Amino acid sequence: MNDFSGMLLQANLIGGEWGGADRGATIAVTNPAAGTELGHVPNCGAAETNRAITAATLAFADWSRSDLSFRVDLLHKLHDALMDNQEPLAQLLTAEQGKPLAEARGEIAIGAAYVRWFAEEVRRAKGEIVPAPTADRRLMVTRHPVGVVGAITPWNFPSSMLARKLAPALAAGCTVVAKPATATPFSGLAWGKLCQDVGFPDGVVNILTGSAREIAGAIMASPDVRKVTFTGSTDVGKVLIRQSADTVKKVSMELGGNAPFIVFDDADIDAAIEGAMIAKYRNMGQTCVCTNRFYVQAGVHDAFVARLKEATEAMLVGDGTQDGVVQGPMIDMAGVEKVEEMIADATSKGGKVITGGNRHAKGGTFFEPTIITDASPDMQFATEEIFGPLSAVFKFETEEEAIEAANATEFGLAAYAYTKSLGRTFRLNEGLQYGLIGINSGLITTVEAPFGGLKESGMGKEGGSQGLEDYLSVKYMCVAGLDG
Ligand code: NAP
Repeated sequence: MNDFSGMLLQANLIGGEWGGADRGATIAVTNPAAGTELGHVPNCGAAETNRAITAATLAFADWSRSDLSFRVDLLHKLHDALMDNQEPLAQLLTAEQGKPLAEARGEIAIGAAYVRWFAEEVRRAKGEIVPAPTADRRLMVTRHPVGVVGAITPWNFPSSMLARKLAPALAAGCTVVAKPATATPFSGLAWGKLCQDVGFPDGVVNILTGSAREIAGAIMASPDVRKVTFTGSTDVGKVLIRQSADTVKKVSMELGGNAPFIVFDDADIDAAIEGAMIAKYRNMGQTCVCTNRFYVQAGVHDAFVARLKEATEAMLVGDGTQDGVVQGPMIDMAGVEKVEEMIADATSKGGKVITGGNRHAKGGTFFEPTIITDASPDMQFATEEIFGPLSAVFKFETEEEAIEAANATEFGLAAYAYTKSLGRTFRLNEGLQYGLIGINSGLITTVEAPFGGLKESGMGKEGGSQGLEDYLSVKYMCVAGLDG
């Protein structure tokens, strides 16, 4: 019996009813730290998804016209329910995803904070009265919920990625059909339970697990789904963008990253190391904003690398539920093999492994936190997302060289830089082709600011006032004939 047993829902939520797949099929979910089975979820497909879309479409009629104060109150209750259940939700998250418990608690808290933020922000979703060119007219710009929303989320932040979609959608007056990742479905299903517990009407929130192709296929094909919000890999995002064309859906895409972390000679090295550890090793390197490439200026290169090695070797690897553990297992063996492939590629091209480099003695999908120096642009990790606990360190001489190297990727999500120069800070703001830029900080995500990538890292924003815009349609109304 676990602490989280009350949050472990092994069924799907469609139109207010919890149930299994039509064909009775289920999918086993594994705890990546223990390698044991955590439970089963329904293996749903197109038929169940179409029923969820119908339920969301029916619910939209009332929900979209409901009192704003009713929606705001429900969102505040949902925030409180999340925080009241922070511990079991965090335990569940660690059990299915592997991240250390402290990080899981933080993820639940930031998810709840997004709910509160959008409950506040929707009260300021104002329209406009635009000056008309003639005296007999009045011009109004109003904002309206976009419609039924399809939400598809990844395994690395199974709770907060859903929060960033559900909260603005519900605040705006949209209804939702959500599909959590198959590796980590329970955190998403728990949102369904809490939404129901606090009183969201039936059909407003629907959550399905199962075949990605079938569920997403039905969502993308439906003319009733007016918006799709996706967080995941760039490859799948491109497929969804193509599929959205047939019904001209609005899309938000939070896709892959390849974050540079630039350390200049004038940096505060203590602060840079602290930021580097968070930006690289949070969630075992499996975040879209994780550092993929360290660029360190020649004057501080050796000192920075020595300190990074010391800090990396001090990290305790193990089951995320255990005290002091800061590195859990990777999500699956495919992730481990990708890191191994990148290490082999780098060492064959002159990269030097200065710590780690191997599967961890704990077995399973545990991997030694690793640093490779003497990195060069022809190595695989220069252009591909690592998504694992591997630091690649490149040396550079000039600011121009660093900015050019940082931008030499099709991705444009997060970038970090450490410097004391104000002038350089603004040059970095203008020069770095990234949607999120952290100066002297390795952890910059916050509900108040827009999160989202440039280039092939996606489109649309989550959080900030911009995060609500994606769920609202703008209408312009001209009222003429006012002279009579
Ligand atoms: P993924 O393989 O793209 O999966 C994401 C979601 O899409 C899952 O629910 C998955 O379902 C579903 N999916 C898979 N194939 C699909 C298809 N053909 N059609 C429709 N849906 C499909 O990504 P992931 O491995 O879970 O997550 C890691 C990636 O997400 C990384 O690239 C990371 O950078 C990115 N990410 C980006 C952000 C951001 O905010 N920019 C945040 C977090 C993660 P199944 O689980 O059932 O396969």
